[in-house]
Amino acid sequence: MASSIDISVVVPMLNEEGNVRELVERLVAVLSQHRDESEETFEIIVVDDGSTDDTPNIIEELIAENPEVRCLRMATNFGQEAAVQAGMLHSSGRWVLQTDGDLQHPPEEIPKLLRKRDEGYEIVYGRRAERNDPWHRVVASKLMVLFMRKVLGIRLPEDVTTFRVIDGEVARLLAGLPEKKKFFSALAGWSGAKSTSVPVAHSARHSGHTKYNLGKLINHTFDLMAGFSVRPLRLIGTSGAAIAVLGILYALFKVGQKLYGVDIDDGYTSIFAAIVILGGAQLIALSVIGEYVGRVFIQTQDRPLYRIGQRLGFDAELPATAKSELFWSSRREEAGEPPVDRASGDA
Ligand code: UDP
Ligand code: MG
Repeated sequence: MASSIDISVVVPMLNEEGNVRELVERLVAVLSQHRDESEETFEIIVVDDGSTDDTPNIIEELIAENPEVRCLRMATNFGQEAAVQAGMLHSSGRWVLQTDGDLQHPPEEIPKLLRKRDEGYEIVYGRRAERNDPWHRVVASKLMVLFMRKVLGIRLPEDVTTFRVIDGEVARLLAGLPEKKKFFSALAGWSGAKSTSVPVAHSARHSGHTKYNLGKLINHTFDLMAGFSVRPLRLIGTSGAAIAVLGILYALFKVGQKLYGVDIDDGYTSIFAAIVILGGAQLIALSVIGEYVGRVFIQTQDRPLYRIGQRLGFDAELPATAKSELFWSSRREEAGEPPVDRASGDA
């Protein structure tokens, strides 16, 4: 195993049995050729995010076939972000190359990212030249980004993907930040890393189906909102104040009418409307405050983001960043026994 690695590829995978072999083989082909041309070495870190299909077994076959391939097997499904962060913290490359595990990001496009990087950028995102996702997936994510940029004023790169090459130190810094809810491209903006994007081909998912639905996207939006912006709090504060002022003016107006002897109606409708409006405003304010309180709670719990069940194919001397989250040290591994065959149900 090379002691110094130039490019660490990080691929999160949840139930990608129909994609993992083809993806890894194409990655190895592209990166081997790149190595021949540029002398840049590489490793491929597949993060198995709790797959329950044949993915883990195929990964073990691939590790046996390719010295560049390693796998982090999460103890259960912790989500794409956690999987990517685990992979980044276990990487030792001068560069980290992130890609999805469903072949939506063709490995053959990697040289484009690397060439752009050579112009002196710390992060190069792949931008979808043409997007191949179901229409509702596209609409949902476009709405989300629009809301982020226009309403919340968060700096997000335009239409970029998780296909990206990142300076290794930046990647490990961001992955190692103590906050639990992370939105990588927003954090990258925060970090000040010099970034750009290049158009890359975007294929339809090769096999299987997306692990995201509208609910998960909305959750994502809330994560970003509460993690990066206090504007909602202020917006609700100011609109609450505006509503209160209107209420007072309205009341004064009615008192004035009464004093001047205008025959006003009973006021049932206006009181009812005021109660409903103010009640709604209070509820919204409460839910937003609750969102922040919830975050304080989660952060003070300081629960590790993930727990790794096994490390396969890594050097005994791990990168220092790999130790920053909990690791469940498997006896089996220490005894030099072969990894557990998940399909056989050995536990
Ligand atoms: N993924 C993961 N854990 C999850 C969900 C997804 O590791 O809990 C992986 C998945 O296997 C894929 C990548 O994250 O490699 C992107 O997921 P997907 O293709 O389902 O998302 P989409 O392309 O629809 O945004
Ligand atoms: Mg996908």
